[in-house]
Amino acid sequence: MKVLVINAGSSSLKYQVIDMDNEQMLCKGLVERIGDSTRSNICHEKVGMDKKKSVQPIMDHTEALRCVLSVLVDREYGVISDVSEISAVGHRVLHSGEDFTESVVINDEVIAICKKNAVLGPLHMPANISCIESCKEVMPGTPMVAVFDTGFHLTMPQYAYMYAIPYEDYEKLKIRKYGFHGTSHKFVSGVAREYLGEENSARIITCHLGNGSSLAAVKDGKCIDTSMGLTPLEGLVMGTRSGDVDPAVVEFMANSKKKTASEVLTILNKESGFLGIAGESDFREITRMAGEGNERAQLALEMFGYRVRKYIGSYYLALGGLDCLVFTGGIGENSAIGRAEVMKGLETIGIEFDYKKNQKFDRAAVVEMSKPNSKVKVLVIPTNEELVIARDAVRLTTK
Ligand code: ADP
Repeated sequence: MKVLVINAGSSSLKYQVIDMDNEQMLCKGLVERIGDSTRSNICHEKVGMDKKKSVQPIMDHTEALRCVLSVLVDREYGVISDVSEISAVGHRVLHSGEDFTESVVINDEVIAICKKNAVLGPLHMPANISCIESCKEVMPGTPMVAVFDTGFHLTMPQYAYMYAIPYEDYEKLKIRKYGFHGTSHKFVSGVAREYLGEENSARIITCHLGNGSSLAAVKDGKCIDTSMGLTPLEGLVMGTRSGDVDPAVVEFMANSKKKTASEVLTILNKESGFLGIAGESDFREITRMAGEGNERAQLALEMFGYRVRKYIGSYYLALGGLDCLVFTGGIGENSAIGRAEVMKGLETIGIEFDYKKNQKFDRAAVVEMSKPNSKVKVLVIPTNEELVIARDAVRLTTK
């Protein structure tokens, strides 16, 4: 059975088709700059073939989806001969609110709840919802499943997810920590548990380090804490996001720079992190610049590592010890410098990191990066969020 996985952003749509008989991806692609008539384009890649990019006016998510479906049935670049071969569509949806602890089959009630929760994710939720509605229109009758980016974290205990603000603001406005990257944390912690055996992996910290980064503390397979919050702004130092700051910074910046609160939040989301400190958001650039002696890039690197370590330290206590630490995401999977920066001083909690292997290893589904007698295992596990979505789509639509 073939599943179409869709991840819609405000002006983009990422997709993959996965053959779930063998869990192999058949093709993937990205529609970008939706709504920009001169620059919108679709870049499609069928496994084993070169990428095919075509610039064409794509004004909304319905048109984007039509473009995707037409390339999927293309004689040369396509992977199906008819759209009816798609048995289910899995949508990545940013926010579950407190309504969905699990993925769900999409019906009108689910769409209505997502609309109610759109206020919690104003940048992504409207695009997610519009894409679901477009799918309904363009592929009527094909079952759809929503997989929430926040879902995995809804098992956090209340003392971990509450902010110490007036309780009625939690009750009425639902202001609390939700956390993101849930499909990734779920996937890699699941792989780690399978690899180590459940008895050796009761206490896991998963580090999803990419452009956006977050950590999760996973006890017996369930998330008990995570570093992102009401929005993805909280927590680690990221490509363009500040991560944790004193909330009073918002008013201070607004007053001194003559900006509104919302403009300050744009600064904290889009002009901060590595970009704010060193002028570059891409971690490869940061490490290259630091290697050439750029002090700001070095500072950004150290701030990144220090913040991750602070969270590891607090989750070590929250979990009552640690069995396994997992690296994933663009930085976690690929950057030896990034991993080494995080590992500084972690021998105090029983981690014996293999710095030599860290430099050079063959990529695999799981790579052990700790020395054989390390009390805490360190694993590098490539994430696969699309596969989590496709698995849920199959599970829920073939029941
Ligand atoms: P996103 O959060 O957008 O999904 P990714 O998980 O793809 O991001 O991670 C992107 C980040 O990973 C970028 O900062 C990029 O520089 C970094 N990255 C990717 N490949 C490498 C590499 N080989 N070495 C160092 N950093 C890398």
